[in-house]
Amino acid sequence: MTALHLRGPVVVDDEHVAPQAWVVGGRITFDRPARVAASIDGWVLPGLVDVHCHIGLGPHGEVDRATAQSQAVADRDAGVLLIRDAGSPADTRWVDERDDLPRLIRAGRHLARPKRYLRHYGRELPEAADLPAAVAQEAARGDGWVKLVADWIDRDLGAAGDLRPLWPDDVLADAVRVAHGLGARVTAHTFATEPLDGLLDAGIDCLEHATGADPGQIDRIAAAGVPVTATLLQVAQFGAIADRADRFPVYAARMRWMHERRYTQVRDLFDAGVPLLLGTDAGGTIAHGRIADEAAELLVAGIPDPEVVAAASWRTRAWLGAPGLGEGAPADLVVYPGDPRRDARLLADPRAVLLRGERVA
Ligand SMILES: [Zn+2]
Repeated sequence: MTALHLRGPVVVDDEHVAPQAWVVGGRITFDRPARVAASIDGWVLPGLVDVHCHIGLGPHGEVDRATAQSQAVADRDAGVLLIRDAGSPADTRWVDERDDLPRLIRAGRHLARPKRYLRHYGRELPEAADLPAAVAQEAARGDGWVKLVADWIDRDLGAAGDLRPLWPDDVLADAVRVAHGLGARVTAHTFATEPLDGLLDAGIDCLEHATGADPGQIDRIAAAGVPVTATLLQVAQFGAIADRADRFPVYAARMRWMHERRYTQVRDLFDAGVPLLLGTDAGGTIAHGRIADEAAELLVAGIPDPEVVAAASWRTRAWLGAPGLGEGAPADLVVYPGDPRRDARLLADPRAVLLRGERVA
């Protein structure tokens, strides 16, 4: 069996950096094999993770298989080898049969209400009380995650239209209980302040965006150890969203305010001890393959380089239950010309991407 020499260093996790490693039979080993066929120079990291990346979703909803494939390839070539989709209208089960595409953790379909989310994205439940049963169905379709839309603009309020919760707190609590009973975790889209206490009371496992979390809620999120996907590429669009919402001045003002303080918000979350996750929110209006751009946004917010890199790689892999680069682990890895923990902008410049031990980019 031929072996590939990773000349290293190899960053395994927060504590361990190995001087070198080898890939044999698609797996990592730290025992020097008898014969080596080739080598790669550079800093090796466990494959990157995008925890909010909609494979199978485009600006108008579900996309065809060829488009979904090109989305997954764009993410892979950027070094993203593990994806949590955070909701997709498409059946992407076929991705699992493809050794050349990233590993995908599904969340089923986004759960929303009629007229209370982007059209053709989510599964729209006629009654809020339908949520717990729908959670059970999506948990069965997904890979251990369910995605709720917790708030969205309520246009029925006319000029007073603003972000409003989609679900009563007791329904949220039932829904999360159902998911946990089935062994699934729940993440929630939330821009607003209003649904956060109910989500935390319900025992939510993860928050997407969390742009509306106030100081007391940030402390609660930190105390509960609930990670937040910052999605700064998405929040960067809030100003443009506000500009298009002139019929809803209250909403537009709130979106503009959250846009203006987006870096402060992320820094406040970090300073409070909230684990931050990297999610590009690709697949709706944002292109795939932009994990390094999201990392760069976190740097602008003042998150230290080593924290950004750990969140983009081994730390979030472990949280999702995926292996890192221990002995015998699948060789899902990215090679960089320098140490990204010292300069996370290097994430934009992968020298090689190996998936299941094969060089794919
Ligand atoms: Zn999203």
